[in-house]
Amino acid sequence: MGLLDKKYQDSNIIIVSLEKALNWARKSSIWYMQFGLACCAIEMMATAASRYDFDRFGIIPRSSPRQADVMIVAGTVTLKMATRIKRLYEQMAEPRYVISMGSCSNCGGPYWEHGYHVLKGVDRVVPVDVYVPGCPPRPEALLQGFLHLHNKIMNESLVEGVDPTKPVVVDDKGGE
Ligand code: SF4
Repeated sequence: MGLLDKKYQDSNIIIVSLEKALNWARKSSIWYMQFGLACCAIEMMATAASRYDFDRFGIIPRSSPRQADVMIVAGTVTLKMATRIKRLYEQMAEPRYVISMGSCSNCGGPYWEHGYHVLKGVDRVVPVDVYVPGCPPRPEALLQGFLHLHNKIMNESLVEGVDPTKPVVVDDKGGE
């Protein structure tokens, strides 16, 4: 986990900055608000179930924005729902994060050209930290998205705070 300084390992002494320790604790316990809007939500649920097991990473579902660290927007964002997403995002405590799961949430997906009722990307209403492509993405891709979010949290500065201007895009093969 990168917290151990090699020269102290034999003595069982851990040298770590407060910033790294806090970031490690935060990334090891990310509670997500479920925002399943369409078919992508089925893959999100599959990721949480026993085969892929979100819980082993400390990723636990919550039903209230006030208890959530990250919002997973999984599915088609209609214009009517977009205002609700924004309101719920604003009710989350900072630091807060957003994972956009699937083509619909990323850019409108199959509704890009003719979907008069669909928002062409959830990043038009909330800042997105990680984009997970696919229609729908597999559970492995969503897990990869969370690992990128872990990296982002581990590199955050307590002084400068969260930088929402540097989103990560997970590629088709699960990389960055
Ligand atoms: Fe459904 Fe595909 Fe849109 Fe996901 S990206 S909600 S699978 S149409």
